Amino acid sequence: METHLQHRDRVGVADAVLLEDYTNETAFVDNLEKRFNENLIYTYIGPVLVSVNPYKDIHIYGPEYIEEYENKHFFEVPPHVFALTDTAYRSLKEENREQCILIAGESGAGKTEASKKVLQYVAAVTEHRGAVEKVKDKLLHSNPLLEAFGNAKTNRNDNSSRFGKYMDIQFDFQGLPVGGNILNYLLEKSRVINQAPGERNFHIFYQLLAGASDSELDELCLKRNLSLYYYLSHGGKSNGNNLDDKKAYDEVKKGIATLEFSELEQKEMFSIVASVLHMGNVGFTEEEGKAQISKAEALEAICKLIGVSESQLAKALTHRTITAHGDVVTSPLNRELAVYARDALAKAIYDRLFTWLVQRLNRSLQSEDARKYKAMGILDIYGFEIFQKNSFEQLCINFCNEKLQQLFIELTLKSEQEEYLKEGIEWQNVDYFDNKVICDLIEEKHKGIISVMDEECLRPGEPTDVTMLAKMNKNFKIHKHYISHEKADTKTQKTMGRDEFRLVHYAGDVTYNINGFLEKNNDLLFRDLKEAMCNSTNEIMKSIFPAKERESMKRPETAITQFRTSLNNLMDILMDKEPSYIRCIKPNDVKKAAVFDETLVRHQVKYLGLMENLRVRRAGFAYRRLYERFLQRYKSLCNATWPKWHGSPREGVQTLVNALGYEKDEYRMGKTKIFIRFPKTLFQTEDAFQLK
Ligand code: ADP
Ligand code: MG
Repeated sequence: METHLQHRDRVGVADAVLLEDYTNETAFVDNLEKRFNENLIYTYIGPVLVSVNPYKDIHIYGPEYIEEYENKHFFEVPPHVFALTDTAYRSLKEENREQCILIAGESGAGKTEASKKVLQYVAAVTEHRGAVEKVKDKLLHSNPLLEAFGNAKTNRNDNSSRFGKYMDIQFDFQGLPVGGNILNYLLEKSRVINQAPGERNFHIFYQLLAGASDSELDELCLKRNLSLYYYLSHGGKSNGNNLDDKKAYDEVKKGIATLEFSELEQKEMFSIVASVLHMGNVGFTEEEGKAQISKAEALEAICKLIGVSESQLAKALTHRTITAHGDVVTSPLNRELAVYARDALAKAIYDRLFTWLVQRLNRSLQSEDARKYKAMGILDIYGFEIFQKNSFEQLCINFCNEKLQQLFIELTLKSEQEEYLKEGIEWQNVDYFDNKVICDLIEEKHKGIISVMDEECLRPGEPTDVTMLAKMNKNFKIHKHYISHEKADTKTQKTMGRDEFRLVHYAGDVTYNINGFLEKNNDLLFRDLKEAMCNSTNEIMKSIFPAKERESMKRPETAITQFRTSLNNLMDILMDKEPSYIRCIKPNDVKKAAVFDETLVRHQVKYLGLMENLRVRRAGFAYRRLYERFLQRYKSLCNATWPKWHGSPREGVQTLVNALGYEKDEYRMGKTKIFIRFPKTLFQTEDAFQLK
């Protein structure tokens, strides 16, 4: 087995640090391609794992591979997600350090698959004992449930996660998994009401219609025919394809059972899913500017399913109550506004149901003693997005990626250089672009883009997208990373429309269209609708539309401010942990095996900052060890240090490496640590030690 693996890995180099010309992007991409063609999808840049999506099953995740990677030195075995996970797990178990595994890459690059492999490995290498098995089962089964509700078929990925996910696996002092916790970020709820051509709504709708029994469907007032539902009709002929919705539904049911949902919870959850489908079919007519409900069956079905009075919901969908100067005024909506209100309600219900589901999973995953665990976190979150047309959602996503890049810089590049400085090792600073300036442009208090957007949203009078953009153009006129349409024209850059602004992100320029920003950021749901949902007899519905929200007069926070807050919390969580990085690359845009589109890969190498990563890595030293620890381990390899060294540890190590014949270029002596440039130097020493 081992020799087989070793042999197979003699294609290109397994660690890009070993490339002769490490500044050459072509050489880097060529190496990935060579390996990809031999089904070697993993390559390192030092400790960073680069993964290229094979778009086919290559059989490298079976039990024999688990065994191959268990308890091995990272660099002694060929690159693999199991090697990275094993290293992280051992650091957690043996050195008590909390871990986080950060997975980045664009849609379809393999992030979610990688996160599942991490979980699979942890489940496989931890002991098989009753209580632990149950926890592992729950962790593994929460995925199909999350994916059913949070994933959809898009043109980029048949199983695209439409939300960001951070999952902690919690371990006890023996390193056994005892629980878990999931945080969800920004579900793409607009998908509930509309899908691009060729795309689908969230999986669960199709799974329910394909997998539920006739009597189950009857109870939900549903028919099996997809084309009956307006909210499923936008993507055109995109259904079916490679997805087995019926089988997936069975998986969902299994997940529900494993996670111990009650009969009632299950029934209520699917009632809400069904009511969203019916919601799309509620139609309106208009008479004298007043909307009226035209299709009573859909409304009846919703009211029956979630236990709301028909007259209340009908009124809430066609009227709006506002409090002005202490007076309560109810006015009718026109047809357009009624449709808007209906869609807003459908989106809100689904979005909140998803958050409820995550919280429900967390309740099931909670460890008995929540104080004592150590966590390994896995972050699977949308990568940088540059589309033809970029909107509010892309701004949020790209902001998130700026923050993660900042974290990456903080945790690796900066700390790497600072350590050399601290240890007094001569070292040429590697220039890297610090993207803090962009993070500040977006989020700085009272000054940044988010502040301007929020101010405009909350301003009395008639704020619009246009006034919002005007204010941004004025405030950021001289900022180097903000380009208004005027600036673009004068600088003969690619011209832009008057309704656009451009940000110079670390990964490239993105032009955003302001249309819809105000509305999306406000994320308004009329009070009457909240009230109606709050009166539902469905317990889940009641809990996701709590009465106190309705009573509170305070304006809810804007969408982007909520997002920023949750992101900053995430950064705090990650900051305290030891990071590992998986950088996923999508080899082609057609979801095909054995196609390596060099141009496409180059773009991703750029966005992921891989060349910069390699440059810093190569300039540095692969290994560093405290003198005490190094000496303690290897003192038996030299007569002068064995069995006990009487001088300072630093001198001891110097004596030791002299005896071992280290070349001058191979190592440096810092204040407290020895730095070893190449992995192989350490390996030779380790081998000598093992042989002794
Ligand atoms: P992302 O989460 O980055 O959007 P996914 O992890 O969902 O992408 O991967 C997209 C698809 O690519 C998967 O559904 C699967 O078909 C394929 N894929 C990804 N990683 C692997 C892998 N390691 N082995 C085989 N197929 C993979
Ligand atoms: Mg995904």
